Amino acid sequence: MRLVLLGCPGAGKGTQAKFITEKYKIPQISTGDTLRAAVNAGTPLGLQVKKTMDEGRLVSDDIMIQLVKDRLQQPDCQNGFLLDGYPRTLPQANSLIDNHIDLDYVIQIKVPDEELIKRLSGRRTHPASGRVYHVLFNPPKIDGKDDITGEPLIQRIDDSEDTIKNRLAIYHKQTEPLVNYYKEQSDQAHMPHYIEIDGTGAMSDVTEKIFSALDQKSIF
Ligand code: AMP
Repeated sequence: MRLVLLGCPGAGKGTQAKFITEKYKIPQISTGDTLRAAVNAGTPLGLQVKKTMDEGRLVSDDIMIQLVKDRLQQPDCQNGFLLDGYPRTLPQANSLIDNHIDLDYVIQIKVPDEELIKRLSGRRTHPASGRVYHVLFNPPKIDGKDDITGEPLIQRIDDSEDTIKNRLAIYHKQTEPLVNYYKEQSDQAHMPHYIEIDGTGAMSDVTEKIFSALDQKSIF
């Protein structure tokens, strides 16, 4: 199964990606996590993209297209993959076609902006595992600590309120056109089946809705 999760920052792509990849036994390719790991490790790529990420802007298509192309050639992607945070622009979507990477599904998780701002400003993450918490909606057992390892949780620099608003504006301008792009071409030759999911409400309900949409349509 080859699928893409589309949705605003904070829509729950990363959280839902974990459940989907566990069920279908495919790797989760999160471009945001990959870039953050490069920044933390201080690699040349990390140094190049840090400022752009901190400000909530998009990293250039050239860098992203090459990064994902290389990643999808790894052996663990042979039986499928889930892309979380890619594509985010039309050139990135076209690059998948140019590289003959046919997708099976694109799932858009829809959440209104006011809800996203609430979610993102309370979000805390465990950097090593990618586990995500929320100070109000999904608090860790011990304040500020990861449930499994007890290591400290962090707030992403780009989860501050001004940067969140900037990221949402960029999403609406640059990434939202992909919704129509996939919706209009749903099920055409070499194009994926497009699925829209209401991302509000309990996390487990959203997971159920995704699984049932995939089961209904499943070719696997
Ligand atoms: P995310 O964790 O998906 O919200 O990504 C965090 C940041 O990484 C974004 O705000 C961008 O700066 C960068 N990024 C991640 N994926 C992409 C992409 N496909 N295209 C451009 N920039 C990206």
